[in-house]
Amino acid sequence: MDTKVIVIGAGVSGLCASYYLKETLGADAVLTLEAAPGPGGTTGSDRSAGYVLDWGSNGFLDREPLTLAWVKDLGLEQDTLKANTVAAKRFVYRNGCLHQVKMPPGFFLSPLLSLPGRLRLCCEPLIPQKRDEGEESIFEFAARRIGKEAAQIMVGAMVLGIYGGDARQLSMAHCFPRMVKMERDYGGLFKALMAIRKERAASPAGPPGTLTTFKGGIGALPARAAAALGDRIRFNAPVTRIAAIRDGYEVTVGEGETLSARAVVMATPAHAAAGMVRELHPEAARALADIPYAGLTVACLGYPRSAIGHDLDGFGFLVPRGQNLRLLGCIWTSTLFPFEAPDGSVLLRVMFGGAPDPDANHLSDEATIGLVRAELGPLLGITGEPELARLYRHPRGIPQYTLGHENRLKAIETAEKACPGLCFIGNAYRGIGLNDCVVSAHRAVETIQQRLD
Ligand SMILES: Cc1cc2nc3c(=O)[nH]c(=O)nc-3n(C[C@H](O)[C@H](O)[C@H](O)COP(=O)(O)OP(=O)(O)OC[C@H]3O[C@@H](n4cnc5c(N)ncnc54)[C@H](O)[C@@H]3O)c2cc1C
Repeated sequence: MDTKVIVIGAGVSGLCASYYLKETLGADAVLTLEAAPGPGGTTGSDRSAGYVLDWGSNGFLDREPLTLAWVKDLGLEQDTLKANTVAAKRFVYRNGCLHQVKMPPGFFLSPLLSLPGRLRLCCEPLIPQKRDEGEESIFEFAARRIGKEAAQIMVGAMVLGIYGGDARQLSMAHCFPRMVKMERDYGGLFKALMAIRKERAASPAGPPGTLTTFKGGIGALPARAAAALGDRIRFNAPVTRIAAIRDGYEVTVGEGETLSARAVVMATPAHAAAGMVRELHPEAARALADIPYAGLTVACLGYPRSAIGHDLDGFGFLVPRGQNLRLLGCIWTSTLFPFEAPDGSVLLRVMFGGAPDPDANHLSDEATIGLVRAELGPLLGITGEPELARLYRHPRGIPQYTLGHENRLKAIETAEKACPGLCFIGNAYRGIGLNDCVVSAHRAVETIQQRLD
């Protein structure tokens, strides 16, 4: 077998794995197969009329050394651009208006939560640590520690913003493992934050990360990574089946072409991987198929600056459910990254859908733009029409780590052990951020190197 490893899927996870496998095994040893006509999966960017339009993610946090190293290896380091510092200011919509999310002491005077809600949140240091091992949803964890109102309004909005998810359905341990550890290690979140601040003051460990993109948008990352693979990446090559053969795997592409390799990296969404391994490992296929996804629609809207009454002085805002708005949130993209809109214009990104509102993803383009006009207009004082409107639809955009995710991961790990040289990577398992995808890719590179050795 000339091809030692086949990587299936050329999103950020698959591209990163292919890049480093190629570095260690040689260019001819790795073949990447991608169903779509181009690379990137949900991460990519377009240019139109002077605007930079990101399809899905709009940046990565510059705190993961493996991502920073990849950016450097790809020669993209000098093209990185950090978000404007004003992005630290974030808003949540409640009772008809936007409230800035403030840290104490400003938090105590903010009307984002009712007075009893604020007082309850202040009791967090007094709440005992969870002792039992039972799995908690994000909502249960947050309600226990900071009270139901803060859990519903602040945490609910944050979960929509990150996962497009429902805090009552998602597993705290899998979505926010660091917070679970903070409670376990320090006894509470306030105590943990104080201790972490102290540690940071003592060491120049730096901030938790700044949102970072590239000239030309976040799509520069997959585009450059795909280019580095040369002709060892094939597009319009949907894999349909993987079968075990002597000392490796046979991979079926499209209508029946077969290829073989000693190892296979599955870097597709879990539902796609499920179909491929149905015969190879039925239990893993069931677990993969059981990982639900939330659909998301991203509306990118460009306006002349003069058409917007609001200052747009921050990251943007999120909308908890129960506020009679359908939009999930709006990012003030050109405030974060001014170069993503032409001079004199602003770019907004509005999100619809998510797990709580799957029907929003089926609205027509006209209905979606109409909804933006009706809901966003009064909030931001919009007086004119957008000079650019582009919708990006992600019917199964973000995997949902719902309660029971641990058991699904175990079934998938069992398959990896039973099928040496088969690795499942990507955003469906242990983190949805671009940094998590890069970390998962490195895990595969290590496992496969060991296997081939
Ligand atoms: C709207 C939105 C906003 C986001 N914002 C951020 C953000 O700001 N910051 C951040 O860090 N993360 C963000 N994310 C998350 C991040 O973008 C994703 O987690 C990441 O891009 C996923 O990469 P992946 O390679 O794991 O999966 P995907 O991007 O899903 O790639 C999988 C690839 O597999 C291919 N494939 C599928 N089936 C087959 C088959 N049968 N054969 C061959 N190939 C196949 C697909 O075509 C695709 O290219 C966002 C996601 C969305 C949807």
